[in-house]
Amino acid sequence: MSKPFDIDLGSLTGHAPPIGVVPSHLVEPGNRGTFFLETFGCQMNDHDSEKVAGVLLSRGYQQVESPEAAGLILYNTCSIREKAAQKVFSRLGEYRERQGEGKVIGVLGCVAQQEGEDIFERAPWVSLVCGSASYRKLPELIAQLEAGSQRVTGLETDTDETFETEMTRRDNPWRAYLTIIEGCDKACSYCVVPYTRGPERSRASGAILREVRQLAELGYSEVQLLGQTVNSYADPTPGKMRFAELLLAVAGVPGIRRVRFTTSHPSDFTRDIVEAIETETKICDHVHLPVQSGSTKVLRAMQRTYSREEYLAKIAMIRGAKRPIAITTDIIVGFPGESEPEFEETLSLLEEVKYDSLFSFKYSPRPNTPSLKMPDAIPEEEKSRRLALLQEKQREIQTARNGSLVGKTFEVLVSGKSRKENQWSGYTSSHRVVNFASREQELLGTYIQVRVTSATPNSLVGEHAV
Ligand code: SAM
Ligand code: SF4
Repeated sequence: MSKPFDIDLGSLTGHAPPIGVVPSHLVEPGNRGTFFLETFGCQMNDHDSEKVAGVLLSRGYQQVESPEAAGLILYNTCSIREKAAQKVFSRLGEYRERQGEGKVIGVLGCVAQQEGEDIFERAPWVSLVCGSASYRKLPELIAQLEAGSQRVTGLETDTDETFETEMTRRDNPWRAYLTIIEGCDKACSYCVVPYTRGPERSRASGAILREVRQLAELGYSEVQLLGQTVNSYADPTPGKMRFAELLLAVAGVPGIRRVRFTTSHPSDFTRDIVEAIETETKICDHVHLPVQSGSTKVLRAMQRTYSREEYLAKIAMIRGAKRPIAITTDIIVGFPGESEPEFEETLSLLEEVKYDSLFSFKYSPRPNTPSLKMPDAIPEEEKSRRLALLQEKQREIQTARNGSLVGKTFEVLVSGKSRKENQWSGYTSSHRVVNFASREQELLGTYIQVRVTSATPNSLVGEHAV
């Protein structure tokens, strides 16, 4: 199986449709040299899957579009909320019959880390369990399977290495995701990430910049730097480049037109990041700054390391920037013990900040987290009621915010073409979706000016401004 490195670069980078996935009719069903990879979860998980696919492709495997066609079936999933974990086990049940057909089945990601070898008990037909903190071992584990091992695991979390791959197969032809920091050293009381992804490890700034230069040469114009707490980046090399300096250095790579980063932790959000956005327009005018709750008491119980007032001081700093910066957030409703007035503090925070968009979640108790044992669980129906109220308030805010942009013109990176004639879509620097009309024939991957003609709560509508 360990063939020379002879795969087509296009298939790794997403520049060759259909992005390296071989149609089922072209492969012998169940061929040992083929893999099917299904991903469920967050952006970090999607990007991990891109790297896993890169590792397998570089070993000579072919990626196929269905489990039926594959010899190796991999399921990569997150376990941030309970539903995700349940989904893996129901999916594994479906895969059961397939193992009888000689297929190798593997579980990757946070659920693998969390459930560990128990997965073999619950689903004895699984051969590979590899947690997200151990991906650097993946090539070795795959080699063991190729050599005939029946069960292999990668479950260490005490690694101080990051998952560097020679090649990553990227699914978006214009925007490349790049993990710059893995794991998390914070200890939010509801969160599985420190447990499933291990401690914080930052990649060397030189290696990051080398990869960005390669990406630019391959034609990517936008890079998104990823990390659970991306702004806690701590360069392990003697230069000790700060996060804001890294943003500027990435923006300085010839060919790069947009730099994004997510997710920022409020406690580590410093003025120099705002200054970098002010001085370098290639750094996108968007900050995702999860607050989780508007109540200092709940934030304390969540172990979020800041109060409502401290968070609002960071918002004031961002709002004070010389150019407008969009702000988005994450919110959890129904944390154990959250009273009605405390929930209302979250609603009033929404009013005060006027977020451009948000992700909202009902609290989900997770294994191995301190909040699991906290008293005063909020009933499911009450969590649903709070979630609906929160989303309604945010809808009103977004309607007004997007409405205020009608008549303005923005630069858009065109990333989609509708089936409807002359209809396209793309993103502004502030990460708003824009659907617009243009008579041009070839716009995908280009940057154009779009004038906003109307707005909905979740997107803008416009026309190509020539
Ligand atoms: N590291 C980021 C941060 O500090 O905000 C986000 C990590 S997590 C992948 C994304 C979001 O999932 C969190 O911001 C939080 O809102 C949500 N989340 C995490 N654990 C959760 C839980 N147990 N129940 C509900 N939502 C949760
Ligand atoms: Fe989880 Fe908190 Fe770390 Fe974010 S900062 S990954 S919410 S522990």
